[in-house]
Amino acid sequence: MSRPIQAIINHSALTHNLTIVRQYAPDARILAVLKADAYGHGLLNTANALKNVDGFALLELDAAISLRTTGYQQPILLLEGFFSTNELALFEQYQLSSVIHHTEQVAMLSKYKQHRMGVFIKVNTGMNRLGFSPKQLPQIIEELINNQHIKDITLMTHFASADDPSEKASVSRQLQCFETITKKYNYPCSLSNSAAIINYPETHGNWVRPGIMLYGASPFSDKTAADLNLQPVMTLSSKIIAIHDLKVGDKVGYHGLFEAEYPMRIGIAACGYADGYPRHAPTDTPVLINNQRSRLLGRVSMDMLAIDLTGIKNAKPGDSVVLWGEGIPVDEIAKYAGTSSYELLCGLAARVDRKFLKSF
Ligand SMILES: *Cc1c(COP(=O)(O)O)cnc(C)c1O
Repeated sequence: MSRPIQAIINHSALTHNLTIVRQYAPDARILAVLKADAYGHGLLNTANALKNVDGFALLELDAAISLRTTGYQQPILLLEGFFSTNELALFEQYQLSSVIHHTEQVAMLSKYKQHRMGVFIKVNTGMNRLGFSPKQLPQIIEELINNQHIKDITLMTHFASADDPSEKASVSRQLQCFETITKKYNYPCSLSNSAAIINYPETHGNWVRPGIMLYGASPFSDKTAADLNLQPVMTLSSKIIAIHDLKVGDKVGYHGLFEAEYPMRIGIAACGYADGYPRHAPTDTPVLINNQRSRLLGRVSMDMLAIDLTGIKNAKPGDSVVLWGEGIPVDEIAKYAGTSSYELLCGLAARVDRKFLKSF
């Protein structure tokens, strides 16, 4: 028998969450963001669950090619675009669309003359990560229009703080900057990540780019996924592989960070930070054992962690443990560990089997 840890990926939760995106943004087309192996969920199975979406967006060229060779006909957008002229032949062969965010890319395009590529020109409206400054933009658009090989142009930007309700002013500054610079053109626009899709309908434009909400986690710290009617897609589960009875003063795990204050029973689960469980999760981080809530004890090891079995009747090796997902939101674990659901989901280790279930 293999190690009992697995990530169950719920196909119907993905399709449900896609319908929620459609409800929020009924007039926009949807680019499902599948970067980082679909936020750790597995690229091709996730794409299959979302197969009717209007397009896909990611950053990894090999993943984009495998979507195309699997047979998806929709636009596939590379969010950082291409990095060298060598890649342009692949963009051509597989009909991939590219974000253009840097003059180097414009220069490479003008040298490579064979094909007609869809481009999303990225405008830096204040995040200062990728994109042309509002001042540069007219010149860039001019150059790209003059390039016979550009098939169609979409204008895009990205918000730095759409997930923070106290940063409304930042979003409106970025939106206003974008509208001011783009209104003289008649190109389709793309601005919204999950947080903006939910909180800022005025940003929807022609293409929205949901990531985290498709996977059933909340982009907001003050709203749960359930508040947003999103369903968890990944459930990380494992089993108890050992049980110990502790006396008062007995310690648990590396450095004995947890010490029993009363006689208690603990279980050791086959899940550790080498599986992607956060090492910074402290004692009291919730876990489910046999569908009852309990808590983590002491320091998370590379391959194992300890669970309080107080109040869990008849617990024994082989009992099921849920680390996050159904019944225990990944956002909650992220909060305990001082990180985000994004990092936990896309940090799921390659050694954990993803098991795709059509219905849960
Ligand atoms: C990752 C990403 C998204 C998706 O963001 P979520 O917060 O996961 O919805 C959208 N746009 C760009 C440019 C991204 O890099």
